[in-house]
Amino acid sequence: MQIKNNKIVTLDYILKDGEGQVIDSSEGREDFVYLHGASNIVPGLEKALTGKKVGVEFDVSVSPEEGYGTRNEELVDEVPRAMFDGNEVQLGMQFHAETPAGEKMIVSVIEFDDEIVKVDGNHPLSGAVLDFTIKVVGIRDASEEEINHGHAHQSGGACSH
Ligand code: ZN
Repeated sequence: MQIKNNKIVTLDYILKDGEGQVIDSSEGREDFVYLHGASNIVPGLEKALTGKKVGVEFDVSVSPEEGYGTRNEELVDEVPRAMFDGNEVQLGMQFHAETPAGEKMIVSVIEFDDEIVKVDGNHPLSGAVLDFTIKVVGIRDASEEEINHGHAHQSGGACSH
């Protein structure tokens, strides 16, 4: 069986940034399972996995364009500290915000002082080259329900979302 659309794929992976620093890994965690062809993973990785079989190991380098996108400096904004109503502010803290156009996004605190809090709506990995080391551990057909939902269910069973 090969990886193609509407297959449920189980992976082992290590994700490093362009400088070789490990950012994420499936090691010591529950299996990483996803539905192929449903944009559950970044486009560059999905493309690289297409056609692969169980047991295959490979490295793939994904550009920002096919990863979490390039950085958009317009998504960096400064808000008055007073808007936080005396709540604690920490670097890396994330919260939901709305753009002037009313779009919802998640922003992270990247800088702050007593007056100003600088927030960034870019994905923390935007602009980064993603170096994946991948091992294909399992492939199975997706159930009709999984295809309808657009994601994998644990062992093909009930939906946990
Ligand atoms: Zn579901």
